[in-house]
Amino acid sequence: MGALHDLYAVQLTDIAISQAQHRLAHLPESASYQFAKSASQKAIADLAAIDKQSTDAGTEIAGLEKQAHEIDATLARLNKQMKTIIAPREAEALQHEITTCANNRSALDDRELELLEVVERCDKESVAVGSRVESTREALASAEQLLRAARAAVNAEIAHLSEQRSAQSLVVSPSLLSTYDAKRKHRPDGAVSKLNGPTCSGCHLDLPTSEIDRLHKLPADELPECPHCGCFVAL
Ligand SMILES: [Zn+2]
Repeated sequence: MGALHDLYAVQLTDIAISQAQHRLAHLPESASYQFAKSASQKAIADLAAIDKQSTDAGTEIAGLEKQAHEIDATLARLNKQMKTIIAPREAEALQHEITTCANNRSALDDRELELLEVVERCDKESVAVGSRVESTREALASAEQLLRAARAAVNAEIAHLSEQRSAQSLVVSPSLLSTYDAKRKHRPDGAVSKLNGPTCSGCHLDLPTSEIDRLHKLPADELPECPHCGCFVAL
């Protein structure tokens, strides 16, 4: 039954191809690359958040300074007005207005100080996170390179195995090959087995001696199959 031995060789290559494809889908370099990618994206997002916080603080400071100038102008006007007032009640009302303005001005100054601290802190953080952006970017580039190399190696192996499969299947009849392909869809681990002593390599069950004898005596156009799992048996 040489045809089944040839088919068994095809199957060994098919299994090697499946294993290589599985390795390709689960490369450790792929997990490292994903890890490096998230670290890089996180650093970029952190830097953007710091920049935004700093810009927002800067915008608010500009607004506060504008308000401060307006209040200063109002205060100057009110103080000038104060010098011309004689009636005590009017003076009191004006003084109240001046105090309110001065309080508002002081609140603006306090807020501006807070914001200047924010800008200063952002500047410091920006330097640290900026260097993290650089280092994670470099790590990502090298992880990408390693992943490409690992993929290329496995793809080359698959290409080589595929060529080997084509060469091996040339000696197997097309009808047997298509029966094998159909059988293997249901049995991805193998559609052709061998006997190790009385044991089928497909299902690991023993065949009775009488059954093994019967398989040996089958006519040439009938292919031996394991009575337990239905694999072709390459005797
Ligand atoms: Zn079996």
